[in-house]
Amino acid sequence: MAQLDNLRIVLASRPAGRPRPGDFRLEHAAVPTAAEGQVLLRILYLSLDPYMRGRMSEAKSYAAPVAIGQVMEGGTVAEVLESRHPSFKPGDIVLSHSGWQSHAVADGAHLRKLDPAAAPITTALGVLGMPGFTAYAGLLTIGQPKAGETVVVAAASGPVGSAVGQIARIKGARAVGIAGGETKCAFVRETFGFDAVIDHRAPDFAEKLAAACPQGIDVYFENVGGKVWDAVFPLLNTFARIPVCGLVAQYNSTGDFAGPDQLPVVMRQVLTKSLTIRGFIQREFVAQRPAFEQEMARWITDGALKYKEDIVAGLDRAPEAFIGLLEGKNFGKLIVKV
Ligand code: NDP
Repeated sequence: MAQLDNLRIVLASRPAGRPRPGDFRLEHAAVPTAAEGQVLLRILYLSLDPYMRGRMSEAKSYAAPVAIGQVMEGGTVAEVLESRHPSFKPGDIVLSHSGWQSHAVADGAHLRKLDPAAAPITTALGVLGMPGFTAYAGLLTIGQPKAGETVVVAAASGPVGSAVGQIARIKGARAVGIAGGETKCAFVRETFGFDAVIDHRAPDFAEKLAAACPQGIDVYFENVGGKVWDAVFPLLNTFARIPVCGLVAQYNSTGDFAGPDQLPVVMRQVLTKSLTIRGFIQREFVAQRPAFEQEMARWITDGALKYKEDIVAGLDRAPEAFIGLLEGKNFGKLIVKV
């Protein structure tokens, strides 16, 4: 297999603030050889996700950072080229976690076979994969939306936010989305069927959000933090639930947060409004995975839940696409066709 070339993108340096293209390096390497129990994979699609910004940093987090010179990590859909594992044969399509590269070996035990006839294989990285599951488990377990309640979510055109709003509506709640720019807002309203969508870049964003939530907010699914949180916070109702899923507005921050310390104000509201604020990492809810897979597939088939993918062609474009993801340049689940 030495004649094949493994194209891979490694972490060249740790960014301070916004990542730069030079923080990544494109390399050519020999294609690895599968040992007993392993398979050799040709990567077809790579998922780009906001959490990867955390892996570029050394700051203490729930997962170890990518080392300098190491291949950037990430979820992938791949084709089996060679198999030394009894459950896989050449041509099988699998979900793996092979990172930003064109070829990889993986232990058969870490792979999930995909059925291309059941759903487009890219959905294993989006609506039927980790982001869809994040929305499902975080919203239903922590958010617990009830009929007639108001659910607010930002990054509403992305894979997590779009599923949160649509599941909220399936449960009979009102979904209010927040997105950047009129094109995304119109799409979230018209295609995902949210009841209202507000552009967070509008100068009167906070007033518009208040007007879109006349009964206050019962569930705020936190994806972004920053000024969206500031606008949402005064609108929270007594007993509101806040699944804290992500804080993408601050992933590129260097740690100096502007403005006065809001913690005493926040804590007073947590107490007097009996708020529930709970952070989570989706894998904590792994026991719900079978229910998710069944329900989500049914909602998609029934047309109750729609999704949008943003597919970029070429592994070499992954750094630029990833940098754009943190600034809202993607429009839907960001995937690289390797
Ligand atoms: P998206 O595809 O929605 O991409 C991120 C979006 O965030 C951008 O498109 C942009 O949308 C929005 N955004 C960026 N900066 C800002 C800002 N300053 N203010 C408002 N919006 C901003 O991402 P995902 O759906 O994959 O992820 C959404 C969130 O969920 C992220 O915070 C991610 O880290 C988190 N997450 C958490 C998991 C967990 O286990 N806890 C698992 C998976 C995801 P726009 O143009 O609309 O502003």
